Amino acid sequence: MRCTARAPGAGSVATIKTAIVGLGKIARDQHISAVAASDRIELVAIASPHDQLDGTPSFPDIESLIRETPQLAAVAICTPPQTRCRIARYALEHGLHVLLEKPPGTTVSQVLELIATAEREGVALFASWHSRHAPGVEPARAWLAGRKILGVKIAWKEDVRVWHPGQDWLWKAGGLGVFDPGINAISIATKILPGRLVLEDAEMDFPLNCETPIAARLLWTGPDRAPVHAEFDFRQTGAPTWAIEVITDRGRLTLLKGGEALTIDDRIVAIDRVPEYASLYAHFAGLVEGRRIDADVAPLQHVADAFLCGRRQDVAPFVA
Ligand code: NAP
Repeated sequence: MRCTARAPGAGSVATIKTAIVGLGKIARDQHISAVAASDRIELVAIASPHDQLDGTPSFPDIESLIRETPQLAAVAICTPPQTRCRIARYALEHGLHVLLEKPPGTTVSQVLELIATAEREGVALFASWHSRHAPGVEPARAWLAGRKILGVKIAWKEDVRVWHPGQDWLWKAGGLGVFDPGINAISIATKILPGRLVLEDAEMDFPLNCETPIAARLLWTGPDRAPVHAEFDFRQTGAPTWAIEVITDRGRLTLLKGGEALTIDDRIVAIDRVPEYASLYAHFAGLVEGRRIDADVAPLQHVADAFLCGRRQDVAPFVA
């Protein structure tokens, strides 16, 4: 097994030598800068089939990455979900700590298998949900704790052509379609609401030429038997809507901009502004240092529930 080495200096700890696997939009938009800003994680390599990062050793696949990078301690897997489990299993079995972008797999059983593998190998596994690290989420959870929930409305709508240009994998089985962003809302809801969600009803719109939905409407029974409605839609034009409103017996909480902003009874709440991915990598570093696992399958389970019980409607073919 590979180890994160201790540095010689008194009390100082070596950086966690990390590679990013999958050099696409989210790796370039968030991971590279978050790792560069971290004093605990160090980017030592990239693995991506068709792309390279200037100044950083780059490999076409996980096999050559691991073979050629003996100092490697961890990987952050930012590929499309369909390939994530195989790559993660290979990394874990080679003694590497693993950070998974969301969703952690294409099936719940894949993620359970990764958890068992990480346990067996004694390495850290972080099935990350980046939206849970948005600055408004923890204050929202704290404010809702102990309040009676009366109703929840989730609206997660964006223009797929703007936010996911050229991402054909979204429309293939396992790519989740509109649940790719929708699962971010579910990851927040399952974090902030003081109780479980049980899916009661789901309706999904499938373009005739796609294997995944372009829109979905869901209804859960939430804490205190409150109705929790969600509307996910990839056909929004103009500005995105990423909002969660929670009505309680003692006020109304709204998370806006994907959790970047928080209001209580329409008044803006001041929140600490640690960027999502800085918080996410700080958490990963702590997991690595303690060789711990943080892998909550609940958001993926809710999407699986929707595919299990949801009604399917055919809609017009999607034209990119
Ligand atoms: P993307 O732009 O399509 O990038 C995916 C990358 O993975 C591509 O560079 C691709 O390389 C690479 N890849 C594919 N198969 C690979 C393999 N076997 N080994 C190594 N690399 C491989 O997608 P993305 O938007 O970055 O999304 C990736 C994941 O991050 C998704 O699960 C998504 O849900 C999540 N995410 C995305 C966003 C966002 O805003 N886009 C935000 C948060 C999380 P080639 O193209 O060179 O083949």
